Amino acid sequence: MPSNASTPGTDLSAAAEREAYRLRLDAFLAGRDAGNTLTLDSLRAGIRLETVVSAAAAVADFADEALAIISDEYRPPLHCKESCWYCCCKPGVLISIPELLRILSHVRSTFDDDSVSALTDRARRYAAQIEGRSFDASTDESVPCPLLVEGRCSVYEVRPLVCRGYNSTSVDACRKAHRDASELVPMFAMLKDVTDGATIGAAQRLHAEGLPDSMVDLGSALNIALAAGEGFSETIVEDNTALLSTQNSTWVATLWARVQETAREIGVEL
Ligand code: SF4
Repeated sequence: MPSNASTPGTDLSAAAEREAYRLRLDAFLAGRDAGNTLTLDSLRAGIRLETVVSAAAAVADFADEALAIISDEYRPPLHCKESCWYCCCKPGVLISIPELLRILSHVRSTFDDDSVSALTDRARRYAAQIEGRSFDASTDESVPCPLLVEGRCSVYEVRPLVCRGYNSTSVDACRKAHRDASELVPMFAMLKDVTDGATIGAAQRLHAEGLPDSMVDLGSALNIALAAGEGFSETIVEDNTALLSTQNSTWVATLWARVQETAREIGVEL
């Protein structure tokens, strides 16, 4: 047998792997299309705080429906459950600016003064904890998201896409990863593919409309927004300079390039 010949078993597993990637790519691209179209639909009424917030809401609603359909179809063995918070305790939770504005609008309309003040303190603590290092740097420390209250997400209904799609098939791995950043958490990838795709599609549409498409670190951005007080959200729609220190401006382009490469490798034309 020539050295480069593959056994029938290898052929089969390569074909199965290609098919798995194709299914994941389909999920990602469906998310991307929806993120793009729903953002465009919301912004048709003009670019202002309300339309930007409703764009984030529409994309999140789509994601919830898509995640429910995938979960029904594949029944992934997820270990995620209410009050489990390990994944909420690391910095670098990247969200879009419309998602940040949606969270701020929710906080201002549903939190009482004491809760806003406690959130402002937690955001300040978060910023102090990561001071002097990049929010993207992995850490073994527990750095709770300022929105985590008594082990629960205090803005669950408006939580960002990254939190909707993140999942785990091993709570033991989550527990270990909480104290050791080198530990990998196994997940059902297709769920994250949908929310990643929706994030990319929305960002690409924001870019096309001349709006900021960079992702921002949730905890750091909240700290800046809450310290700035009233009027911050209206200003940031026009000018996001205040959030520059919280931005990751390469995440969208890097992920999209990786997806395009995968598509090429499995022979799918985008
Ligand atoms: S927004 Fe909510 S779900 Fe996401 S990291 Fe913060 S506390 Fe956790």
